Amino acid sequence: MTAMQRTCLAAALVAGHEVLRRGASSVDAVEKTIRVLESSGLFNAGIGSRLQLDRVRRMDASIMEGRSLRAGAVAAIEQIRHPISAARLVMEETEHVLLVGEPATRFARYFKLKSDRQPVPRRISFKPVHAQQASGPTKKTLDLYRAMRVRRTVGLETVGAVAVDRSGTVASGASTGGIALMLPGRVGDTPLIGCGVYADNGGGAVSMTGVGEGIIRIAVAKEIVDRLAAGASPALAARLVLKRLVTRIRGAAGALVLAPDGRFAIRHTTPRMCAGYWTGNGSPIVRDRFW
Ligand code: ASP
Repeated sequence: MTAMQRTCLAAALVAGHEVLRRGASSVDAVEKTIRVLESSGLFNAGIGSRLQLDRVRRMDASIMEGRSLRAGAVAAIEQIRHPISAARLVMEETEHVLLVGEPATRFARYFKLKSDRQPVPRRISFKPVHAQQASGPTKKTLDLYRAMRVRRTVGLETVGAVAVDRSGTVASGASTGGIALMLPGRVGDTPLIGCGVYADNGGGAVSMTGVGEGIIRIAVAKEIVDRLAAGASPALAARLVLKRLVTRIRGAAGALVLAPDGRFAIRHTTPRMCAGYWTGNGSPIVRDRFW
């Protein structure tokens, strides 16, 4: 983790906590925290998102709250600075849970969400192109994908947050630009409720990072929340489900897990996971290993 990422994570924790301190909801806190990370350009979300193999940046995000089990998500949304806010709008302004692609982008524009017309950060070597110029999953991109697949790396630096407010309502959210070397149109776990995020006051809130293909197949977030509801501690629930992910399908992931009573765990099977927590006392704790 770079010093800038560390500072940004601490700032995001402070911003989210401030929202809770003012008496707002855990959904407000999760959205606020993720917005800080999305607009930093330092993580794989919002303006820092990865590009797909046709050089288009398509982003996924979701948010869920645990009192009413309301949830909203967007997948393959483009040129929107805060996909997490688009996900929240889906949750609050529609009867749906998930909107995808160009219609999701238009939906966000209708609500005047800020667009992201910033140049792509220099560390990404591709130049962005607009959807209408994009080639989609053509023979060329399929060939490129096959050639590069052997070097496929673990998805990194998706952003997520979990929170509990004064009423004991938990919420979780996540936002990502996906993994390295994705085929155009690839969607990971992040916008899939029960896979990348889940929140239920009867168990707790979970937000995942890691290789989405594995997380989806085990439905990791829901599996962890079910174990919390059955009485497991956050640390035990995370450990058991992550172990299953690794032994059953050789997946790789990290989890933020929070119970409505404030107990929490951060666990990962990857060598590192940049994450932090803050209960309002002292300063925020930010580290890149949590065993
Ligand atoms: N889970 C994300 C995805 O598969 C990637 C990540 O967490 O870094 O799209």
